[in-house]
Amino acid sequence: MPTACPVCGLHYEPEVGFYWGAMYISYGLSVGVVVLTGILVYFLAHDPAVWVYIAAVAGVVVLLTPVLFRYARALMLYWFGGTCYDPKYAGREQ
Ligand SMILES: [Zn+2]
Repeated sequence: MPTACPVCGLHYEPEVGFYWGAMYISYGLSVGVVVLTGILVYFLAHDPAVWVYIAAVAGVVVLLTPVLFRYARALMLYWFGGTCYDPKYAGREQ
């Protein structure tokens, strides 16, 4: 993750350890992925053996880890960092 926005120069870490809270957001997103994957496996594979659930959930969570990591940090910045997207500044050079 870059330390500052290449377009507007916004510093991405408002304070030291700011992104510790993103772990909880990431955890919540992961729980949602696990539940959704479990439901999909149940209905698509007609309630298979337990190892199929474990393999499917583990595989999906591992594959989505980079996405969950980035979204958790972005949500942390939006919800608790006082940052919001303003289209009138998009594409401007500093
Ligand atoms: Zn920016």
